[in-house]
Amino acid sequence: MSPPVDPVTSDPNLPAEVDVAIIGGGIAGVTAAYFLAKAGQRVALLEKGVIAGEQSSRNWGWCRVQNRDEREIPVMLRSMELWDSLPKEAGIDLGFRRTGLIYATRSESELETWRQWVEMARGYQFHSRILSAEEARAMVPGTAKDWVGGIHSPHDGMASPRKAAPAIATAARRLGASIHQRCAVRGLDIEGGRIAGVITEHGRLRAPQVLLAGGAWSSMMLRRHGLDLPQSSIRSTVFATEPAPEITPGGLYTSDITVGRREDGSYIIAANNRGQIEITPQGLRYARKFWPTLVARRKMVKFGIGESFFRGPQAAKGRWRMDQPTIFEAEDMRTLDPTPKQGVAEPALKQLAASYPALSGVKMGQIWGGWIDSTPDAVPVIAPVGALPGLYLSTGYSGHGFGIGPGAGQLAADIVLGRTPAVDPKPFRYERLIDGSRIQKPGMM
Ligand SMILES: Cc1cc2nc3c(=O)[nH]c(=O)nc-3n(C[C@H](O)[C@H](O)[C@H](O)COP(=O)(O)OP(=O)(O)OC[C@H]3O[C@@H](n4cnc5c(N)ncnc54)[C@H](O)[C@@H]3O)c2cc1C
Repeated sequence: MSPPVDPVTSDPNLPAEVDVAIIGGGIAGVTAAYFLAKAGQRVALLEKGVIAGEQSSRNWGWCRVQNRDEREIPVMLRSMELWDSLPKEAGIDLGFRRTGLIYATRSESELETWRQWVEMARGYQFHSRILSAEEARAMVPGTAKDWVGGIHSPHDGMASPRKAAPAIATAARRLGASIHQRCAVRGLDIEGGRIAGVITEHGRLRAPQVLLAGGAWSSMMLRRHGLDLPQSSIRSTVFATEPAPEITPGGLYTSDITVGRREDGSYIIAANNRGQIEITPQGLRYARKFWPTLVARRKMVKFGIGESFFRGPQAAKGRWRMDQPTIFEAEDMRTLDPTPKQGVAEPALKQLAASYPALSGVKMGQIWGGWIDSTPDAVPVIAPVGALPGLYLSTGYSGHGFGIGPGAGQLAADIVLGRTPAVDPKPFRYERLIDGSRIQKPGMM
C-alpha cells in the first residue's frame, strides 16, 4: 500500500518540442525541472505514475549532512540552504524543520567511526558533536538502552516526503515547466548519434537534451539503448505509528531501529539492517561491481529471490518496441509498490516499546515497502553521458537522495545548461562506474 502523497496538476497536452525533457517525477526530476524552468528553459517533466509515487514519498524524510559520504558533503550543504530558502522563494510548504538528528550506539568501534567523521566534517565547517554515554541517554529520554555514546547534529532536520516533491513540481509548473503524469517514456529518440527527444506512450516529444531521473528504472532504460549503468536495489519496509509522546524532536538512529518524528507527532519507524537484496538478472549482471559493497554490508541485508526476478526494473528486459505498450505503462508498474514485510515491522514495533517505555502501547499505522536504488559506490550519477550527446543522468541516490535532492537538482540543471556548477561535479561522473576506474568504497549509510 502506498503512503499518502500530495496531488499535482498535470498539463493536458504534451508539447511538440521543449529544450529539456525530464524522465521521472521523483525528487531528482522535480528539483531539476524547477531550476531549469527558473533559468528560462522550456521543460517537460514526464512521469509514468504520479509525482513522487515511488521512493520520494516512501522515505523517512531525513535531510542530513551528518555521517554522509565526504564526496556528497558540498552538494548536501547547498541542499540544506535550499531546504531553508525554497519555501520562501517559491511560496511552497516542504514540511522542512531543522529538528536535529541523533545517532546512539552500543558499539565502541561505531563511535570511533563517528569521531573520525566529525573530524573530517570540520574541514567543511560542519559541526556535529560526539555525545558521551550520559549525554546520549539524556538526549533520548524514555530509552531503556545502555548507549556508549552518540553523535548529534543540531543543524540537520527532516522534510515531509508527502509534500516536498509535489510542492517543488507545482513550483516548477508555475515557472512554466509542463508536467505530465501517467506519461511513460518508452525510450530515447536518437538521431545521428545524438539525442533528439523521447518516445512516450502519448507520442514523440522533441528535445535536444534529456535528463534521465528514473530512480530504480534508470538502468533498464539505458540498457534498451546499449548503455550500462550498474544499479541494484534493496527492498525495505517502513511503518508509521499514531501520534505519541515525544522521545526525540527529529530523527533518532540506533543499530536496531530508526525513529523519525513527523509534523503531526506520529513516528516513521524502520528496523535497521533488515533490507532485502532480491537476486535478479540485473543484480547478477552487475554482481562483480557490487561485490566489495556487498561484503562490507553483508550484515545489513538479507538475500532472497522473489517476483522481481521476472517482473519490474531489475528483470532481464533490454529490448522492447517503442510503438507498443511497455513495462513502464503496465498498471502494476505505474507506481512500484513493493509488498512490505510484516515479519520485519512487528518485531520492530515490539522493540520500539521495549527500548522506549514512553512509547509502549503505541499502535502501528500504515505500513509500506520501497525499493532503494543504489550504485556500487553508493554515490549518485549527476552527469552527461559521453557516449550519447544530449543525454544526462541524475540517478543512483543510494538510499539518501531525498535530503540531497534540492542541491542535486540545482547541480543537474547547471550541468545541462553548461554552467560552471557551484560544487565540484567530478565525484558524480557517470563514466567512473563503467570505464574500469577503481570503484571507491561507499561511506556510511
Ligand atoms: C524506505 C526508504 C527510506 C529512505 N529514507 C531516506 C531519508 O530519510 N533521507 C534521504 O535522503 N533519502 C532516503 N531514502 C532514499 C530516497 O527516497 C531516494 O534516494 C530518492 O527519493 C530518490 O529519488 P529519485 O527521484 O532518484 O527516484 P524516485 O523517487 O524513485 O523517482 C523516480 C521516478 O521515475 C519514474 N520513472 C521511471 N521510469 C520512467 C519512465 N520510463 N517514464 C516515466 N517515468 C519513469 C518513476 O515512476 C518514479 O516516480 C529512502 C528510501 C526509502 C525507500
